[in-house]
Amino acid sequence: MKRNLRGALIALACSLGVQAAEPIWDGNTVEMVSEKLADGVYAYYAGNARELNAKGGAAATSSGLIVGSKGALLVDTMLNRRLNAQVQQLSRKLGAKPILYAVNTSAHGDHAYGNMYLPAGTVVIQHAQTRRYMDQHLADDKAFMIKNFGAGRGIEEIEARTGDLLVAPGGTVTLDLGGRTVDVIDFGFAQTGGDLWVWEPQAKVLWSGNPVIAGKPALPWLLDGHLVATLETLRRVYDFLPADARIVPGHGVPIGKEDLKWHIDYLATIEAQVRTAIAQGLSLEQTVKQVAMPEFGGYALFGWVHPGLNVPAAYKDLGGK
Ligand SMILES: [Zn+2]
Repeated sequence: MKRNLRGALIALACSLGVQAAEPIWDGNTVEMVSEKLADGVYAYYAGNARELNAKGGAAATSSGLIVGSKGALLVDTMLNRRLNAQVQQLSRKLGAKPILYAVNTSAHGDHAYGNMYLPAGTVVIQHAQTRRYMDQHLADDKAFMIKNFGAGRGIEEIEARTGDLLVAPGGTVTLDLGGRTVDVIDFGFAQTGGDLWVWEPQAKVLWSGNPVIAGKPALPWLLDGHLVATLETLRRVYDFLPADARIVPGHGVPIGKEDLKWHIDYLATIEAQVRTAIAQGLSLEQTVKQVAMPEFGGYALFGWVHPGLNVPAAYKDLGGK
């Protein structure tokens, strides 16, 4: 898994023509803002996320807070001390309650490195796979994150703080925040195999983490492959959601249920076209050329993420030789 992710991001850095030390976004300058979605339910995202999402740019990590009478739940803990302090500060202002729980939507450092800065009493919730990955690979992961997000961004000092409460594969954990319950759900493989979704059923808000990066024109990244499973999972999430649900994506401002169709249609189109290419006996190189899908362009990273990552992942997943 790590090799794929590392190779992918190095390729990304090269394709963007940037130095390896130049971050995709800068953890030293991002300023987090909050948006109230319902009483006690807030999305956190970078102050420039709306503008970046609209033009298909790469925004920093999103997060959020759900507040009950007993305490609050924080979704994702951010890349570094600075950004974690910002979301804790927002949470003190908005929640005025202790953070009882913090959920990592995946093991990716920009969603989980901040765990160590949480109060000692906060219960950290991870997927079992995420905990296993962080227990075994944190040193490598930090080196790779420094390469892609830059030195001097607070990654050097990160120490492991892994899950106290683990969600089993395919499982759901329901938490009582006092007058409000929250479900932490594994809907199946979505990007890392340790993907958790946070669902607040009263306000009908779902946090997705990276499986949904942002609204159109952003696209899924098949960093660890598994096109078919990822597509099934996104369809399962779509079917789960009521029509008026909102989704806080991993790197952007809230979107609606129907906005998920862009991501599903994209993956379904890749699946159909790559199946055709394989049936025609095309090589990977020929398949990448044939499955150009310009109708899904518009994402700033399309020129790399589609031909460089997603089509090859689909080709492999669908049995191309
Ligand atoms: Zn992320």
